[in-house]
Amino acid sequence: MSELPYSYDAPVSQALFDRASAVTPGGVNSPVRAFRAVGGTPRFMVSGTGPYLTDADGREYVDLVCSWGPMILGHSHPDVIAAVRDAVSRGTSFGTPGEGEVALAEEIVDRVGPVDQVRLVSSGTEATMSAIRLARGFTRRAKVIKFAGCYHGHVDALLASAGSGVATFALPDTPGVTGAQAADTIVLPYNDLEAVQEAFHRHPGEIACVITEASPGNMGVVPPMPGFNQGLKDACANNGALFISDEVMTGFRTSRSGWFGIDGVRPDLMTFGKVMGGGFPAAAFGGRADIMAHLAPAGPVYQAGTLSGNPVATAAGLAQLRLLDEDAYAKVDAVSTRIQSLVSEALTKESVAHTLQSASNMFSVFFTDRPVRNYDDAKTQESFRFNAFFHSLLANGVYLPPSSFESWFVSTAHDDTAVQRIADALPAAARAAAEATAA
Ligand code: PLP
Repeated sequence: MSELPYSYDAPVSQALFDRASAVTPGGVNSPVRAFRAVGGTPRFMVSGTGPYLTDADGREYVDLVCSWGPMILGHSHPDVIAAVRDAVSRGTSFGTPGEGEVALAEEIVDRVGPVDQVRLVSSGTEATMSAIRLARGFTRRAKVIKFAGCYHGHVDALLASAGSGVATFALPDTPGVTGAQAADTIVLPYNDLEAVQEAFHRHPGEIACVITEASPGNMGVVPPMPGFNQGLKDACANNGALFISDEVMTGFRTSRSGWFGIDGVRPDLMTFGKVMGGGFPAAAFGGRADIMAHLAPAGPVYQAGTLSGNPVATAAGLAQLRLLDEDAYAKVDAVSTRIQSLVSEALTKESVAHTLQSASNMFSVFFTDRPVRNYDDAKTQESFRFNAFFHSLLANGVYLPPSSFESWFVSTAHDDTAVQRIADALPAAARAAAEATAA
């Protein structure tokens, strides 16, 4: 059994975790699932319906993770399940072109103005990796600017995060990424246009692209300051570089056309994932036709995938996108606002310093009373309070992301009953946060 302090009441999950740990590093297939930041036994889920998940011990939770964003209609939406059943009944993979992938590409192009053409892939990581390769191939330049605290998947060149400081050359922050792979990555503080200008000044004619999360959710929710994305776009345009907006998290979640639908800044390339796959592995990158024309087989930049445009994944994604009309977004936005108010009220009542930050319906709570504008700010929060808050909610049937550096996600399925369950669990969680002490 786990020696961590919070292994209560989850014997079946714990047994599964022990089995998993024998055959899988750390017992999980993606690190954050292991609960390392918050401690305790990761819950092994067996089913999901609407806003609820049920774990292997038979306990039900209101889900505020939504599979890290994709499940914007809640779990097991009947129309998505029907589309998947229909697709599966015709076969699972052909390795040929198929109509479903055309329809999904048309839906994306129709929704997102700057996207003339799109290439489907299987994960957000593949999307950003391929977009960077395309930008380098198109511009014939090597260097990439990214921002500390922005996550773009586990792409070697993008796993560098050398902290703040102007035009710091990145050091790889995981073994296995070589200095050479990170050497062309320049990591800058988020929301700092001066640092961007300075980097372009120092490296004339060398920077292929700037990549940014359209509105970051991977250091908690830290929206761009007014004019930041436009400033990035202008800096790129003035220096012959491409502006890549990573909408893997925000795409088709923050509005019908993602964050682009909110700030209207036109990127040269964009990346998508999560919502567009309806819970299956489907992602994409796309943008200006003249740039996309450089991609094989139309052009020389190679990119490929055995399961790209998979018929089951595209059927699920298309079914989900077709249900996401303005009413659906209004509903998700409204329930997000309600939950944010409940969280803030509960914490205020217990005098817990906190700052709630949101980007459309994505939101997170930072345990600090100062606004968070970049990764350094985010790291000043009292994460130990989050851990106590998290475990109290978990014990009372509310499943939060197991880290204080993640966005919370809601869905159209989060109805009054689900919201009431959260409201009922919050007072004890806020007390736990107030009473928590640093380890
Ligand atoms: N880009 C952003 C903004 C993300 O949030 C993520 C994943 O969370 C990725 C890229 C990578 O996507 P995936 O996990 O599908 O590889």
